[in-house]
Amino acid sequence: MNRQFDIAVIGAGPAGSMAAFAAAKAGKSVALFERNSKPGTPVRCGEGIGMRSLTAHSDARPEWIRQQISRSIMIAPDGTKVSIDEIDKSVILDRERMDGDLARDAEQAGAQLIANNAVNDIHRNQNGKYVLETVSGEYLTTIVIVADGVESRIARKLGWNTRLAPNDIESCAFTRVTSPLIDQDACIFHVGSQVAPGGYAWIFPRGKGEANVGLGLSGTHSKAGAAKEFLLRFIDRELPGSKTGELHCGGVPVTRYVRPLVREGAMLVGDAARQVNCLSGAGIAYSLFAGKIAGTVAAQALSSEIPQYNVLKEYEKQWKTRYGKQQERSFILKEFVTQHTDDAFLNNIAAKLTKKRKNKIRYITVFLSTFSRHPILMFKAFKLFG
Ligand SMILES: Cc1cc2nc3c(=O)[nH]c(=O)nc-3n(C[C@H](O)[C@H](O)[C@H](O)COP(=O)(O)OP(=O)(O)OC[C@H]3O[C@@H](n4cnc5c(N)ncnc54)[C@H](O)[C@@H]3O)c2cc1C
Repeated sequence: MNRQFDIAVIGAGPAGSMAAFAAAKAGKSVALFERNSKPGTPVRCGEGIGMRSLTAHSDARPEWIRQQISRSIMIAPDGTKVSIDEIDKSVILDRERMDGDLARDAEQAGAQLIANNAVNDIHRNQNGKYVLETVSGEYLTTIVIVADGVESRIARKLGWNTRLAPNDIESCAFTRVTSPLIDQDACIFHVGSQVAPGGYAWIFPRGKGEANVGLGLSGTHSKAGAAKEFLLRFIDRELPGSKTGELHCGGVPVTRYVRPLVREGAMLVGDAARQVNCLSGAGIAYSLFAGKIAGTVAAQALSSEIPQYNVLKEYEKQWKTRYGKQQERSFILKEFVTQHTDDAFLNNIAAKLTKKRKNKIRYITVFLSTFSRHPILMFKAFKLFG
């Protein structure tokens, strides 16, 4: 078995598989390490994504799509319902299928998928090569792309500070539910201190009577096991008598992306880099994009006469141009929402929005209603959206 590669990618989630695919397609020898036996399992995700982002950043296939979504409904603490027409078409994915296909695409492009093989440690040898210590022994590589998800242990070993303050992580619980009560057209979000303090609960329909149901609590409101307790109570109340699958817990980083994204011969992508929309917790689109750019740039760096680090920095530049500002906006909005909103405030916004004509309610209306009470934040928001 080959143990020496141009590029090693750690983690076969959307970020890692896209990176491996792009680098292998550019003709480099690539290893894709995955600690689980099958990429994409177990699924710990609501699987929601905007169709525009999905098709922009991947070669999306019809089989990846479980359900088309036509609207979102937000439910305030006092039960007021606000229906929001989607600006972009959204879909609920089959992540097991998508992640599996992305890893297979990388293999077909020439990458070697080394599954069931966690990378436990990493260091640089005297020749400047990275040595990956894995369950099945050592591997050498010139460039390493770290895509090991929210825990990001390997990033820390390489010197990145990926520690998260309690208010920069959402503690999530998630399960699959089958029930005739699920509205199969709409994503439903519940907010309020009784449902999900500092976060929200969600029901994302995935067809055939099924839905992904989960909630996230702000780290500052969460103690061990709290997300699971809130979720079980939520399901009992909203979907009584439903059949629930296995319950998973996990974290979603809701902070600024890690700076720098690139070090000498190493790149950080996806959840490991905290490339997530801080308001919604969505990270699939960002991961697909970051992985594709990182893999492409890593391959270019190995073929270039320009010093390698200068070429690798191009990844950070492209990330910042495409999503830097959007993530910053979401961070500021998230800070506002977690610090300044209480149940009465959320009820008030919902009451105002229900008075608007249905087709006039867009996400921007929700934000502007929120900010109009806070002129300084309004000013900041205008600067960001402008
Ligand atoms: C409950 C929940 C719901 C979510 N819902 C949504 C949603 O609806 N929409 C959305 O856009 N986003 C959602 N997200 C976020 C989304 O799942 C992530 O942003 C996305 O999966 C990040 O992709 P990634 O490739 O960076 O990391 P991951 O998908 O986490 O992949 C990392 C991979 O690395 C592997 N790995 C880790 N350590 C090692 C190691 N040492 N060696 C080898 N392999 C390793 C892991 O096994 C895993 O396969 C949700 C997250 C959670 C927790």
